[in-house]
Amino acid sequence: MKEQKEIIQPISLSGKFIMKLSIKQFWVKLNLVWFVLFFLIGCILLATFYPYYIEKLYSARLYRIYAEMLRWLTGRLPFSIGDVLYVLAGFYLGYSVFKLGKLLFQKNRSGIRCLLTRMLKIGGVGYIWFMLSWGLNYHRLGIAYQLGIEVKPYTTDELCVLRDSLAYRLNELRKQITADSILPTPALAKLYQQAPRYYSWAAKRQLFLQYHYPGIKSSLFTPWAKYFGWGGYYNPFTGEAQIRANMPRILIPYTVLHEIAHQIGYAGEEEANFVGYLVASESGNAYVSYSCYSELYKYVFNELLLRNTFPDASPALDTLVKNDFKRVNRFFMEEQNNIAPQMMNLYDVYLRANQQKNGINSYNEVVGLLIAYQKKYGKI
Ligand SMILES: [Zn+2]
Repeated sequence: MKEQKEIIQPISLSGKFIMKLSIKQFWVKLNLVWFVLFFLIGCILLATFYPYYIEKLYSARLYRIYAEMLRWLTGRLPFSIGDVLYVLAGFYLGYSVFKLGKLLFQKNRSGIRCLLTRMLKIGGVGYIWFMLSWGLNYHRLGIAYQLGIEVKPYTTDELCVLRDSLAYRLNELRKQITADSILPTPALAKLYQQAPRYYSWAAKRQLFLQYHYPGIKSSLFTPWAKYFGWGGYYNPFTGEAQIRANMPRILIPYTVLHEIAHQIGYAGEEEANFVGYLVASESGNAYVSYSCYSELYKYVFNELLLRNTFPDASPALDTLVKNDFKRVNRFFMEEQNNIAPQMMNLYDVYLRANQQKNGINSYNEVVGLLIAYQKKYGKI
């Protein structure tokens, strides 16, 4: 079809006036878009300096209402709509980069400017959406404030006390699950369904752990998860929690509890780990608690490695527990690849940009919370 060029022919003085006005209006409108974007980003950045108000107004109220509405909507779908949107966004990004390359090759300056402007605007809207729909939770006071515990630097001796407590609980729980050398593999659906129940039980003691309208799904990217290096992730745009379904089953219960913690507004990885612990330890389900304590033991062990100290391992882990650990390690060793570490580096940058100063090691910071909690409540 032949392209039709619009010819503007001012036939009168008043016609000229209207044309000039519309160009002026166009520029006003364009500048207004930028003004609104910068204004909102400025307000968000300013808000991050006030964690108390973020805690009280945003995390405890606005975010909760918004996230529940979102889950009410997306939780009904049997698949992850968030994953579908990520794929579409990926295609759009790929297309834009391809188009940019083409324009650069053609040295089409106005085309490049137009495309970059559009990409910047989309990036700005994406940032605002991310921060308002979840990201501000990175700047809240958080679980330590809510529980009235103070996280302080801890000694290696304190670390060892925690490790021993965890080892004791692990040995005890493992016996409760089964005397068999192989752990049972409950159905994924069952593990997804029971997690919200444990949150409602925990919420009887800690009201802020309330969780309504569940939205836990297996990730559509599960077959390729080994290249990303995650066990689960939260999609702040759809409110869904996605789980890597093909991990060793024992890792699933704690991962689900961790992702639900993100859903109810605990953005920091150490916080989500700790909230997962609070819920698992009250679940009364040996399998779920064992899943949680195994992970926590790993974090404590990592901390000891980081300190380059290898104190005696008393009380020793039960042989069954050791074998479970070995099986999980073997699983991850077998799927080692060159891509996952690069993806982890990217995730590290993301975390550092979002108030997680230790990046990927933020998960380990749960240790500080556990020690502070153990000191205050005398249990783990
Ligand atoms: Zn997480």
